Amino acid sequence: MHKSLSQIQTDLKDKKLKVVEIVSFYLENIEARNGELNAFLEVYKEEALAKAQELDKKLSNNETLGRLAGMVLGVKDVICQKGKPIKAASKILGNFESVYTATALQRLIDEDAIIIGSLNCDEFAMGSSSENSAFGIIKNAQDTQRVPGGSSGGSAVAVQAEMCLAALGSDTGGSVRQPASFCGVFGVKPTYGRISRHGLIAYASSFDQIGTLSHNLEDAALLTEIMSGKDDFDSTVSQKEVPAFSTELAEKTDKKFRIAYIRQALEHPSLDKTIQASIFESFEKLKAEGHTVEAVDFPLIEYLVPTYYILTAAEASSNLGRYDGVHFGWRHPEAQTLDEVYELTRTYGFGAEVKRRIMLGTFVLSSGYYDAYYTKAQKIRRMVQDATLQILENYDVIAGPTTPSPAFKIGEKKKQDPTQMYLADIFTVQANLAGGLPALSLPLYKHKEDNNLPFGLQLMGNKFEESEMLKVGRAFVELG
Ligand code: GLN
Repeated sequence: MHKSLSQIQTDLKDKKLKVVEIVSFYLENIEARNGELNAFLEVYKEEALAKAQELDKKLSNNETLGRLAGMVLGVKDVICQKGKPIKAASKILGNFESVYTATALQRLIDEDAIIIGSLNCDEFAMGSSSENSAFGIIKNAQDTQRVPGGSSGGSAVAVQAEMCLAALGSDTGGSVRQPASFCGVFGVKPTYGRISRHGLIAYASSFDQIGTLSHNLEDAALLTEIMSGKDDFDSTVSQKEVPAFSTELAEKTDKKFRIAYIRQALEHPSLDKTIQASIFESFEKLKAEGHTVEAVDFPLIEYLVPTYYILTAAEASSNLGRYDGVHFGWRHPEAQTLDEVYELTRTYGFGAEVKRRIMLGTFVLSSGYYDAYYTKAQKIRRMVQDATLQILENYDVIAGPTTPSPAFKIGEKKKQDPTQMYLADIFTVQANLAGGLPALSLPLYKHKEDNNLPFGLQLMGNKFEESEMLKVGRAFVELG
């Protein structure tokens, strides 16, 4: 199947392809590979085929279709669709079904996107390897001994293994970009506040943002454009006009971009040497075309991971208070008293990582430690934002590695202390901490010394400057 919506739409228009054929192609791939990869939790087979037939009928009557006709989409199991089970890959939601559809998803459906199923992920989007789902680990389609990254692992694998054309994920500290890097696909996280979070299950509300996984930047731009913009159900969404990202990306430009890279990131001891060398090679290619690539200092790098984990755990401990066996989903069947309802439901309903974060978050918010941890972390968050925005005053984007290594082995980091897993996020959390900057991962490379595993280059743009970031992304893709 074509790996781009525009090619698919051309064939649909020329009557060389039917929507039913597209959906059937993905359903067959799901059938063939999902048993092993475990990317999908639910497949909406009948519904997807019925919608495809409806679109084919409209096509044969020459009716105009929505802008996403032919787009077959998988959706991370933290984004609600009315009447469908939603679990956040946790046991605690039981058989709960969404009572409304997320604004972002509704906008895609309204443009004739077909939703093919819900995608497995780390429980409540907490993790960097997709080993924290209550419904089993997800495997990297290129090498099934490896993790796909997380938390949107199912979204990345579904696109990687062509089980759908594109997928929605969520990114609190890298959950779209890191799995994109590990699976060799494009991951785009727009600015915090660009897309409504209404209907997105909250992990850390001041960081969470919906993003896309796709085979190219054009599909990402179109999906982002359609999802973006103000929403009465989420007051944190920006009122700013949404640029036509897809049209702007399609425009030719001979602009010479100004690109910064953070010296402390490219020289970081945790960074794989092949990744480092590949990124410097790309920088040389861009320079040869007249773009500027310069080193800048960002001395706060070692503070990123601890600050991120203190703040997100704090927010998570509050957000996850609602799963108490009373309001939603599952309740432990043996609970008799009120205390038992809370205690047993939460003890058996949540997985280990989620409980760790609730405890960590409760601790850093407790009166005795609030100033030492939470207040201090908020101050550092501001310093990170100021320092990052200062760099972006002089440059269009900040470029660097998405991840310190290619996909690691299943079990490799999980058996170590949790800090090792958290450190996998060192390069991605900066965008979220620095006021929610837009960021993306481009699947530019294969690791020759490590099984040809893919890895990505990350770009961080200025707030609400997704268009510029996408254009720089295209320059990198074109020059390799
Ligand atoms: N790996 C990070 C975490 O565990 C990021 C997760 C995310 O972006 N949802 O918090």
